[in-house]
Amino acid sequence: MIFEPDERRSPARNIDAMKVIPIHGARGPGAQEGERLADARGRPLRDLRISVTDRCNFRCVYCMPREVFGHEYKFLPHGAILSFEEIARLARIFVGLGVKKIRLTGGEPLVRRDLHQLIAQLAELGVDLTLTTNGSLLAKQAQALADAGLKRVTVSLDSLDDAVFRAMNDVAFPVARVLEGIEAAAAAGLAPVKINMVVKRGTNDQEIAPMARHWRGSGHVVRFIEYMDVGSSNGWRMDDVVPSAEVVRRIGEEYPLEPVDPEYRGEVAERWRYRDGAGEIGVISSVTQAFCRDCSRMRLSTEGALYTCLFAQSGHDLKNLLRGGASDEQLREAIEAVWRAREDRYSEIRTAETAARPKVEMSYIGG
Ligand code: SAM
Ligand code: SF4
Ligand code: SF4
Repeated sequence: MIFEPDERRSPARNIDAMKVIPIHGARGPGAQEGERLADARGRPLRDLRISVTDRCNFRCVYCMPREVFGHEYKFLPHGAILSFEEIARLARIFVGLGVKKIRLTGGEPLVRRDLHQLIAQLAELGVDLTLTTNGSLLAKQAQALADAGLKRVTVSLDSLDDAVFRAMNDVAFPVARVLEGIEAAAAAGLAPVKINMVVKRGTNDQEIAPMARHWRGSGHVVRFIEYMDVGSSNGWRMDDVVPSAEVVRRIGEEYPLEPVDPEYRGEVAERWRYRDGAGEIGVISSVTQAFCRDCSRMRLSTEGALYTCLFAQSGHDLKNLLRGGASDEQLREAIEAVWRAREDRYSEIRTAETAARPKVEMSYIGG
């Protein structure tokens, strides 16, 4: 099935027709039962990010600018998005293929009704299960999510300065309510909370030091993310990127830092700890220090398409197979075939020209 691109949706949401892969013969030459699944560059499949909705109650300027995602924008209709049962079925197949970690994302995952019911289904899989949220609805939902089996949460917060934060989320949402959400998550046992700050030069880079200061000693970990050229609508320019090395230097001038060894191969954030023992920070340098070499992430979009890279220009339609009566084995072979053919390494080959190419939007594919 080919999805016609809809200009009022993301400018780049084309999804390749996914061939119905035959039950036999879908594997690469020599593949054996039980063999470790690796892509064309030898990378294993370890992480799955699932976008549970393409909708969001924020309009962050770097992600869903309101000039593009305004009243006219057509989000996916209910019937087009995967049900919780469909997601859970696919997740189980992914776990059978070696996935150890599942992150729910979006759009804003907590705007999807009864998300805790999906958490409960995924918790049965015994993987590291986590969620990225803007925190706006967390105070209300943290306990139900924890009770359903969620273990950890990442909350995005770009500034502690209310005026800066309101301008960046572009819906005038106050910082205080996100802080309440973080407290509620910690109280519900979802601590330590990871706090993501996207740093955009001239917009919130003056907030780097105050963020570090505020969360030092709290047990929570702030991760400073380089502003990326995801999608086609945020008007990204290299000049807006604050390199992680600069973030580490700026914080280190106030509070000396030392590097911490990664917990596992392929860890996205580079870790640093305060020499005085007040905890750690992370930096995610997807622009200045690409980590494609160890990238083990597959993404499942809201409407059931597979994406092998955050900067993909197209995906592979799994929903058609899923709703067309495919068996678990057929679905498994289809996923395997997509992963085996994967060659992505966008961040290693990024140029001004690639940055300007149309790509799927992050809110659709899942951040
Ligand atoms: N709505 C949730 C949230 O904001 O946490 C989950 C989805 S959001 C797309 C996932 C993460 O991507 C957030 O931490 C967000 O800050 C980050 N993000 C979005 N656009 C980005 C960009 N252009 N560069 C870097 N990070 C970005
Ligand atoms: Fe929404 Fe998250 Fe994108 Fe902000 S970053 S617009 S909260 S999906
Ligand atoms: Fe992975 Fe693509 Fe990001 Fe490289 S650019 S780390 S391949 S998602």
